Amino acid sequence: MRSRYTEHDQEHYERPRRRTRPRTKDRPSYDDAVDGLVVTVDRGRFTLLVEDRRVMAMKSRPLGRKGVVVGDRVRVVGDVSGDEGTLARIVEVHERSTVLRRTADDDDPVERVVVANASQLVVVAALADPEPRPRLIDRALVAAYDAGMQPVLLLTKADLADPETLLSTYRSLGVPYLVTQRGADLTEVRELLADRVSVLVGHSGVGKSTLVNALVPDAHREVGHVNAVTGRGRHTSTSVWMLALPGGGWIVDTPGIRSFGLAHVRPERLIEAFPDLDEMTEECPRGCSHGTEEPECGLDAARESGAADPIRIDSFRRLLDARERSAEDH
Ligand code: ZN
Repeated sequence: MRSRYTEHDQEHYERPRRRTRPRTKDRPSYDDAVDGLVVTVDRGRFTLLVEDRRVMAMKSRPLGRKGVVVGDRVRVVGDVSGDEGTLARIVEVHERSTVLRRTADDDDPVERVVVANASQLVVVAALADPEPRPRLIDRALVAAYDAGMQPVLLLTKADLADPETLLSTYRSLGVPYLVTQRGADLTEVRELLADRVSVLVGHSGVGKSTLVNALVPDAHREVGHVNAVTGRGRHTSTSVWMLALPGGGWIVDTPGIRSFGLAHVRPERLIEAFPDLDEMTEECPRGCSHGTEEPECGLDAARESGAADPIRIDSFRRLLDARERSAEDH
């Protein structure tokens, strides 16, 4: 899987710079650096886990404008005691295995990396109250496929509505799912999340916060602790944070993210997530988006010949269209 991300990753950390001087003179060596994991980012300050300690850190100058995001595995120097008032320095960001991105807003088309190194995107949606919003789910799926992450549907409030209507929309895409309801046993959810890094997304009211609190009983304390460390009061601007699951694995909660802007997603990247369909596009004209409007798309030939499931083609094209729609259009 790794080649899929690195090939397209805009932020190659490992790409060698053109050098005019020997490397040894360009770069100090950080023999005393230790490994850390970025668990929150708040206005240029990073909370890292170094062994079991929470360590505040900032980026060091050699990193320049390179982003450091939640989930990044970094090398850090300086005071890594985690004592109050200390500030360590991040000197290196390890290569990322996955990169979840979003285009922030319509009026802010800058592409941002949201989370690094997560393997699953868990889309939490209520079956009722509030009504599910398939377009938003589609957008999250596109973001997951673009990131090289496995999307999973976690449907809540099954006591209020039959999941079948919504599931029928996603079956042909082969998206795995779990169905839960209030007070239900969370064993299956825990198994789904165990030993992985999972990003949870979902609108308010779908039960995501309840779920996070059930999975990480001291989530409030953890996040509160983060705020105490940054010294910025209870209402932190942090919109993404990473929490350790008691049984192993991590969840990344995204309370500050309401939708995924997808302006950065390219069709050729999306179809790679569907190898069986991708195979049918080898004869497509150059630059074919594989959308409905394309005059000579291989997907239409595959549909006519019966080589591909028409419902799957339609579902793929629905995702392709989700990319085009405005983030606010839901
Ligand atoms: Zn095509």
